Amino acid sequence: MDHTTVGIIGGGPAGLLLARLLHNAGVDCVVLESRDRTYVEQRQRAGILEQSTVDVLRESGAGERLDREGMVHDGIELRWDRQAHRIDFPSLTGGRRVWVYAQTEVVKDLIALQMTDGAPLLFEARVNAVVGADTDRPVIHYTHQGRDKTLDCDYVVGCDGFHGVTRSAVPDGVMRTFERVYPYSWLGILADVPPSCDELIYAHSPRGFALHSMRSTTVGRLYLQVPNGTDPADWSDERIWDELAARFATDGDWRLERGPITSKAVLPMRSFVTEPMRWGRVLLAGDAAHIVPPTGAKGLNLAVSDVVVLARAFARLKDSGSTELLDAYSDTCLRRVWRAEHFSYFMTTTLHTDPEQSTFETRLQTSQLDRIAASPHAAAELAGNYAGLTIE
Ligand SMILES: Cc1cc2nc3c(=O)[nH]c(=O)nc-3n(C[C@H](O)[C@H](O)[C@H](O)COP(=O)(O)OP(=O)(O)OC[C@H]3O[C@@H](n4cnc5c(N)ncnc54)[C@H](O)[C@@H]3O)c2cc1C
Repeated sequence: MDHTTVGIIGGGPAGLLLARLLHNAGVDCVVLESRDRTYVEQRQRAGILEQSTVDVLRESGAGERLDREGMVHDGIELRWDRQAHRIDFPSLTGGRRVWVYAQTEVVKDLIALQMTDGAPLLFEARVNAVVGADTDRPVIHYTHQGRDKTLDCDYVVGCDGFHGVTRSAVPDGVMRTFERVYPYSWLGILADVPPSCDELIYAHSPRGFALHSMRSTTVGRLYLQVPNGTDPADWSDERIWDELAARFATDGDWRLERGPITSKAVLPMRSFVTEPMRWGRVLLAGDAAHIVPPTGAKGLNLAVSDVVVLARAFARLKDSGSTELLDAYSDTCLRRVWRAEHFSYFMTTTLHTDPEQSTFETRLQTSQLDRIAASPHAAAELAGNYAGLTIE
């Protein structure tokens, strides 16, 4: 194997789904993933799938287990000032909802499909460089099983995440980047405990933000806002549960269930966009092109929408020879990317407490939350962004 139509770098959700969609469209491709299969399948990340992501996974043939095991959520709860307010998605979005189904499971489903009926997927194939992005035949240089190899491609798609190598194939000055780093991180835990609530809870509190989420009916996924540079070892299990309980506290009789914590990790938060998402015959998709803070649950969903647009473009090229959709790829995706960037920024800055924040700014946050509770229009705006974005 030394030539393919589309060389895909990275076997995360973006690369795996792109390979699936291309395979279904009869476009040949190869996926090169630097890690081993077990590592990729265990990596804890996202857990919320938008309606359009679920629709795409079903259409691609990867929806069977998702339909069996995924948990449908019709809303989220916001908490602030010891009050709780539910946002109902279907009534505010014309029927759209979200699914709780972990990224690890999406990745497992896509890998299983690819291994039984799909394009070549090479694990432990680390890409070192992409050469000739501005030529008709870009070349991927990679190391597989200790041997240096090359793959000639008609097109290369970088699905290699924020720290990948594909962006560096583009000369300095061609792409613009836009970035914001936040002055806080998340301490995320997995715990063997049933959810304390049927839906996600986003809590604004004077002690900082907290999120109650879940992976299944027996595994909880919860997050606490912590200062940047926090060492998870400084947080005992008891301290974590006490802090979560304090931040979620309301005047109602709700109680946080506690259980054994099986994993703790600190996640920094960043917004980042690369423009354009294409240069010559090299294209970027997913986290390789843009990052959002996880508060809006948009990262995985954006990766999915990028590769849907891209797969359509490659299918059009194959069927008609037209590059029209490929040429429009970057502009098409960036419209949705910037919407998601704004929503993620809005959710993050409305719900977290900046260490430099004044009491004036705290009042603005609670005024915004009051507005969402009081105005169906404000609630619909939130629900539409959270559950309702469609893929152009
Ligand atoms: C804690 C957390 C919670 C999140 N929650 C949500 C959520 O609820 N909803 C949501 O939509 N998003 C969420 N996200 C974001 C989401 O996980 C990412 O946006 C998503 O993983 C992006 O997929 P990707 O395929 O673009 O990139 P990645 O998942 O980063 O995959 C990139 C792949 O490329 C491989 N790679 C890197 N370099 C090379 C190389 N040189 N050669 C070969 N392969 C390489 C990597 O090993 C990796 O497998 C969350 C993220 C985190 C960290």
